[in-house]
Amino acid sequence: MEYDHIVIGGGVNGLSTAYQLAKRGKKTLLIEKFPLPHSRGSSHGQSRGIRRAYPDPYLTSLMEQAYKEWDEIMKLTGVKLIKETGLLCFSDDQDNKFLNQIINSFEKNPGAKNEVYSGEELSKKYPFISLGGKGVGCYDPSGGVLMADKALKCLQELIVRYGGVIHDGDGVEDIQHDQDKVQICTSSGRRFVAKSCVICAGPWSGPLLKQLGYTVPLQPIKIPVYYWKADHFLPHTWIYEGYLNPGYGVHFWGLPSLEYPGLVKICPHHGPEIDPDTRDKQCTDDIKQELTNFIRAMFPTVEPIVSVEESCIYTLSPDWNPILDTLPAARNIVIGVGFSGTGFKLGPVTGSILADLAMGIKDRQEAKIFSLERFSSPKL
Ligand SMILES: Cc1cc2nc3c(=O)[nH]c(=O)nc-3n(C[C@H](O)[C@H](O)[C@H](O)COP(=O)(O)OP(=O)(O)OC[C@H]3O[C@@H](n4cnc5c(N)ncnc54)[C@H](O)[C@@H]3O)c2cc1C
Repeated sequence: MEYDHIVIGGGVNGLSTAYQLAKRGKKTLLIEKFPLPHSRGSSHGQSRGIRRAYPDPYLTSLMEQAYKEWDEIMKLTGVKLIKETGLLCFSDDQDNKFLNQIINSFEKNPGAKNEVYSGEELSKKYPFISLGGKGVGCYDPSGGVLMADKALKCLQELIVRYGGVIHDGDGVEDIQHDQDKVQICTSSGRRFVAKSCVICAGPWSGPLLKQLGYTVPLQPIKIPVYYWKADHFLPHTWIYEGYLNPGYGVHFWGLPSLEYPGLVKICPHHGPEIDPDTRDKQCTDDIKQELTNFIRAMFPTVEPIVSVEESCIYTLSPDWNPILDTLPAARNIVIGVGFSGTGFKLGPVTGSILADLAMGIKDRQEAKIFSLERFSSPKL
């Protein structure tokens, strides 16, 4: 069976790319190695944050399109995927670089509404946070929660509705290519052929690219996902970055009670390096302790004892921005990798960029922020 395009990986990025291709009338096959749905990659779970607040103004501007695309997906499927909560970014340090970058990014995107608060204003407005009148805050009213698992299901439904095929429970083992064709062989021994292929294999992307002769600096890390009991708490999603622990900056984030009534989600933005095949071998008790200390100091209404623990993976690129590009020696092999800790909300936009590359509308990434070239070395 020959396809126009094969997409490898059924996380949010592979699904979004396959959706964009199928919607454009292209004969599209998506191959996923685990039976769907699964919780082994980076896209599983009920919730992800969505927001315009990004430290980079370009990414804030891309969110304009992302909100439109999510709206379209909601209209097409009739499923509500976004819960509007607003987002509060805050720090106990008024000179915090991340906070100041976010405020600056909003200044460069005047259409994106926001409010900036002094430490005193924050303390008055948010008795749930013990800042003692210090720090700075930035409120993004467009912030909210994306219903992640439901979004994946909607994307799957739309791929099939537009004529695409989803082949799950069978991993890609080998990719052979020449200028016009890509041939894929899976673990069950099946062979598929297409004009181009898009690799969105999340934490497994590094080894797959290595088989093709490319060493791309990608590092999977484990992110423990914690839920904590709280009677009353911030109604918003939030991001904290600051210096509560003297000597180094910390970055934590959270969502209001949603998945499990009475429990709020409070998580780290860092974790240990892992092999995705053995994710939970790595203990994260040190991070649990950091968060317990943080909650004790910062959130008086949250019980500093973990109630529920789950696991997820970030696949980090060195600058935490994804790589959306073609391979220099094989323009019909496209890669969408390294989405780090923020790649869900932009999925439909990055999917559209990857679909353009797969169709040859562009043969390489022009925006430096997403190019493979930015990590180029003679040996890449
Ligand atoms: C705890 C946590 C919180 C997060 N919070 C946010 C947030 O608030 N907002 C936000 O925007 N982003 C957030 N992110 C980041 C976001 O979820 C990820 O960037 C995104 O899900 C990455 O999706 P992906 O499709 O690139 O990778 P994945 O979801 O990992 O998908 C890759 C898929 O490829 C498959 N695969 C791998 N190898 C093969 C193969 N050889 N053959 C076939 N299939 C293969 C895998 O099985 C997997 O299903 C968060 C991530 C985590 C872990």
